[in-house]
Amino acid sequence: MSFTLAIVGRPNVGKSTLFNRLVGKKLALVDDQPGVTRDLREGAARLGDIDFTVIDTAGLEDANDDSLQGRMRRLTERAVEMADVCLFMIDARTGVTPTDEVFAEILRKKADHVILAANKGEGSAADAGVLEAWNLGLGEPVRISAEHGEGMADLFGALLPLSETFAERTAVAVAAAPEMDVSVPEEDGGEEEAEAAWAPSEDRPLQIAVVGRPNAGKSTLINKILGEDRLLTGPEAGITRDSISLRIDWAGTPTRIFDTAGMRKKAKVQDKVEKLSVADGLRAVKFAEVVVVLLDAAIPFEQQDLRIADLAEREGRAVVVAVNKWDIEDEKQEKLKALKESFERLLPQLRGAPLITVSAKTGRGLDRLHDAILKAHAVWNRRISTGRLNRWLTAMLEQHPPPAPGGRRIRLRYMTQAKTRPPGFVVMCSHPDKIPDSYSRYLVNGLRADFDMPGTPIRLTMRGQG
Ligand code: GDP
Ligand code: GDP
Repeated sequence: MSFTLAIVGRPNVGKSTLFNRLVGKKLALVDDQPGVTRDLREGAARLGDIDFTVIDTAGLEDANDDSLQGRMRRLTERAVEMADVCLFMIDARTGVTPTDEVFAEILRKKADHVILAANKGEGSAADAGVLEAWNLGLGEPVRISAEHGEGMADLFGALLPLSETFAERTAVAVAAAPEMDVSVPEEDGGEEEAEAAWAPSEDRPLQIAVVGRPNAGKSTLINKILGEDRLLTGPEAGITRDSISLRIDWAGTPTRIFDTAGMRKKAKVQDKVEKLSVADGLRAVKFAEVVVVLLDAAIPFEQQDLRIADLAEREGRAVVVAVNKWDIEDEKQEKLKALKESFERLLPQLRGAPLITVSAKTGRGLDRLHDAILKAHAVWNRRISTGRLNRWLTAMLEQHPPPAPGGRRIRLRYMTQAKTRPPGFVVMCSHPDKIPDSYSRYLVNGLRADFDMPGTPIRLTMRGQG
C-alpha cells in the first residue's frame, strides 16, 4: 500500500528539485509559465523499492495579496491534511531561519509523521546548518543534496519504517476479519454509536468537491452556497491558489469545498486550461469525501462527466449527481425521467446515487442537494454489525445459493465489515477464486438494498480460509 508524502518548506530550499528527483521525470504540466502549475504538484514517486505519492507545495514566491507567513501556514496545514507524511525541508547552507521555525512549530503540532531534511547538504558549507536543524525539535535531520542526489539512501532509511507502518495498517484492516467471533450474536445498534465519530464537525468538516465540465455552473453553484460573490470578484480578492479550498458553514454543516473552477479561470494560458481542469478534477476527487458531479441539463452525461463520475467511484468516494440549470428546462417531468434512465444505463456502478436537480443561479434545489450530500456521507461512513451481516448472509444464501462448480458447492462461511469510507466487506469462503462476478454483484446489490446504502461504492472481497 502506498502513502502520500508532502514536501514543505520555505521558498528556494529545493523542494521542486527533490520533487523532480523523486518523480524521476519532468511532469507534463511543469513549465515556466507563472501561475499555472505552481500550487500543489503531485506525482508518483519511487525511492529504492518504496512507491509513494509525492506532493510539492512550492509556489509561494508570487504571493501578493497576503502575507507570506499566512499563506505558508495555510499551505502547510493543507499539506498536513492531505499527506500521510510531511517532509520538511530546510536549506542547510543558509541555516535555520525564523520562517523555518514557524513551519516547524506547525508541523510539531499538527503532523503525525515528519521527516526533517537538511538540503543543499553537499560540502562542508552545510555542516553548521545541519547541526542547527536539530534545534527544530523534529528529530534527526536527514542530510541530503537534492541537486546532486546525495543522501538518498538516508532518506530511504527514514521513509522505510513509515512505509511499513502504512502497509501494516492496511493489512490489519483486512486481516481483522478471521479473528472476529461471529458465534456470539451482537447487539444491533453499534452503527449508531459509531456515527458520532465521523459526523462533520468544526475539527473534521465535511469535505466536498464540485466537479464537472467547463460551464456546467460550478463557480455559480459554489458562489451561491457561499452566499456572496467571494470567488470571482476580480483581481483584488483574486482567485488565489489557496481558494481551491474554502471553509464554510453550509446550512449548519461545517464544510470544506474544493473549488476547481476558480483555479481554472485564473489560469490565463489557454492551451493549459483543459489539462489543468482535468488534473484539478482528479485532485479534488482524491481529497473529497463526497464528490458532487455537476451536469448541465442541456448536455448531460457527456464523456467527460462520465469519466469523472467513474473516477470518483473507483477512488471510493460518495457521489451525488446534480443536474444544473434546471430553471431553463420546460418539460421537467419528461426530462427527469430521461435523465434517470441515462444515469442507470451509463453509470451502473453508481446505482442508487442521488440525482438532484438544481439551479445554481436561482438557488432552487440547494437545500435538497445539501441533504443528499449529508445522506451520502452518512452512507459512506455506515458500519453494520457482524451479527446483522451474518443473519443477512444466511438469508441471502438460502434465497439464492452460490454455484456448485464440478458438483462441489462453494461455501460462504461468514462475513464482516472490514472498513468504512467507503464500506468494505470481507466474506470468508471455501474457493474465493471460483465465485462468479454475478454472485458478488448479487451480494453487493443486496447490501445496498437491505442496508439502505444507495450510491456509495461498496467493496466486497472474497477470502479463503487457511
Ligand atoms: P523550491 O522553491 O523549494 O521549490 O526550490 P527549488 O527546487 O526551485 O530550488 C531552489 C534553488 O536551489 C535552485 O536554484 C536549485 O538549483 C537549488 N538547489 C536545490 N537543491 C540543491 C542542492 O542540493 N544543493 C544546492 N547547492 N542547490 C540546490
Ligand atoms: P463553471 O465553468 O462550471 O464554473 O461554470 P460557471 O459557473 O462559470 O457558469 C457557466 C455559465 O452558466 C454562466 O454563464 C452562468 O451564468 C451559467 N449558469 C450557471 N448556473 C446556471 C443556472 O442554474 N441556470 C442558468 N440558466 N444558467 C446558469
